Amino acid sequence: MLADKLLSLHIEKNPYTTLPRYTYDQLKKGQTCAVCDSFALSVRGNKCVCEDCGHEELVASAVLRSVDELMLLFPDRKITTNLVFEWCVIFGFKKRIARILEKNFKIVGYGQWAYYE
Ligand SMILES: [Zn+2]
Repeated sequence: MLADKLLSLHIEKNPYTTLPRYTYDQLKKGQTCAVCDSFALSVRGNKCVCEDCGHEELVASAVLRSVDELMLLFPDRKITTNLVFEWCVIFGFKKRIARILEKNFKIVGYGQWAYYE
């Protein structure tokens, strides 16, 4: 019945597959909790702790989750240390992010123009 209704309305595309338009600058920056999506995370040692639900996650896995988000949301952008650093906000240590990226991705280029894939 739904199919008939959709056909009668000439809706060919499922409206739920259409994402709203967004730009990098519009989106709120910051690492979110893997469980409750809260932005209230703090770093304790090598772990991120959610202030809202108490969930703990290794910093490295949280950073990689952020990289996944960036790749999904902005497939055209190159993954650089600065971009990930800006996106996570919470991880004050740029060098730490660089190390995590180096360990998990292939570095292309050199110095401030280097990116990961
Ligand atoms: Zn949480």
